[in-house]
Amino acid sequence: MRRWILAIPALFLAWSGLYAQEFDADFEDATLRLDYVMCGDAHHQAIYFQRALKTSEWAGRRNNLTKPLLEGNGQIRVLDPETGACLYANSFSTLFQEWQVTTEALHVQKAFENCFQVPFPKRPVDVEISLVDTHRKVSSCLKHRIDPKDILIRRVADNGLSSAVVWQGGPLDKTIDIVIVAEGYTEAQKGKFFSDAQRAARAIFRHEPFATLRDKFAVRAVFAPSHDSGVSVPRRGEWKDTPLESHYDTFYSDRYLTTSSMQKVYDVIGTTPFEHIIVLVNTPIYGGGGIFNSVTIMDSDHPTFNAVLVHEFGHAFGGLADEYAYGDQEETPYPADTEPWEPNITTLHDFGAKWQDMLPAGTPIPTELDELDTKQDVRRIWHTLTPEQKAQLNLKLGVYEGAGYQTEGVFRPVQECRMRINECEEFCPVCSRALVRLIDYYTE
Ligand SMILES: [Zn+2]
Repeated sequence: MRRWILAIPALFLAWSGLYAQEFDADFEDATLRLDYVMCGDAHHQAIYFQRALKTSEWAGRRNNLTKPLLEGNGQIRVLDPETGACLYANSFSTLFQEWQVTTEALHVQKAFENCFQVPFPKRPVDVEISLVDTHRKVSSCLKHRIDPKDILIRRVADNGLSSAVVWQGGPLDKTIDIVIVAEGYTEAQKGKFFSDAQRAARAIFRHEPFATLRDKFAVRAVFAPSHDSGVSVPRRGEWKDTPLESHYDTFYSDRYLTTSSMQKVYDVIGTTPFEHIIVLVNTPIYGGGGIFNSVTIMDSDHPTFNAVLVHEFGHAFGGLADEYAYGDQEETPYPADTEPWEPNITTLHDFGAKWQDMLPAGTPIPTELDELDTKQDVRRIWHTLTPEQKAQLNLKLGVYEGAGYQTEGVFRPVQECRMRINECEEFCPVCSRALVRLIDYYTE
């Protein structure tokens, strides 16, 4: 019996060793940063390669190398040039694709910066980067060769900026590595930044499933001093000199705080190893954003900080969709003939791939909302609800119509979730399961 118990860890070690061998066969313990420009309009797009850089040790996953768990709106793949075999792949979404469904994109062409990281190859490889449209069909693709001996791959040196470990749940090669980057903090506000970064980490690890699985994460913070304190607010004519050039009013939406200067974000991070970025913006003005495997960006001092940070991190880390609807868009990102890749919404095109297995037998599809959620704006009365009433709205699984910005044709798993309203304290069971699966995928 004892031998049998010992056999399991031995087998596990053998598998771990195999994964490590696969990684070591193709890659160095180093990171290749690749910068691209994506440009076009509502109907056309193109991707251009700009430059390659060698940065830090590799902080990304060393197993599950070739298949992203979530499809994203685009993928980057490293291929063996002789066999075409995939050696590494990752998925992402972009601000560029969000812009493509705005009315501005109907009459102007624009360019957006994007940076990606892949493990540094030992031999020449092909890198293929592709974007998909709302029907999950490839709409644009660029393939180019990277020779690791190319003298024009810039070797990035330590940029000398201050950094600190905010949370270390385990060793670098076993944890999911988050970096928090300062934006709009002057030299005199350095202490405030590191304290805000601690507060950000606490906000995330206070929420399940991150609380239980916090030992699978590491969080670092990098401080870049800003000339001005605060952030640009274009609708007020306020433009500030800040390291990452972030601003509100992205796509003319008041609360949409983003930065289009992704190369500056990556330059500030420099040689700090990371997989996920949180840009913390020194302002009390409500706003933020989260783009899958790209960036979470967040105000530091609005009273809703904890709730909104975790929501935006749900997008950027977890690939979770918004479960709210605010009217019917002219251009839906979720057409009826396509199942979205996001785990927490469905068009019912392929519901079996979503939470059908979690649904109690006999649940009607679509599911009617409870009276609690129909006779008033639940956000206004949330603080008056009993724990039982909140649980009913947050935990009772169904297929409720209205999600992904659409009041019709897109469905969510519960009536209220952290991905729907700021007032709801918890992720729903479907979002939670998706996050646990993703954390396991990164760390197993
Ligand atoms: Zn949810």
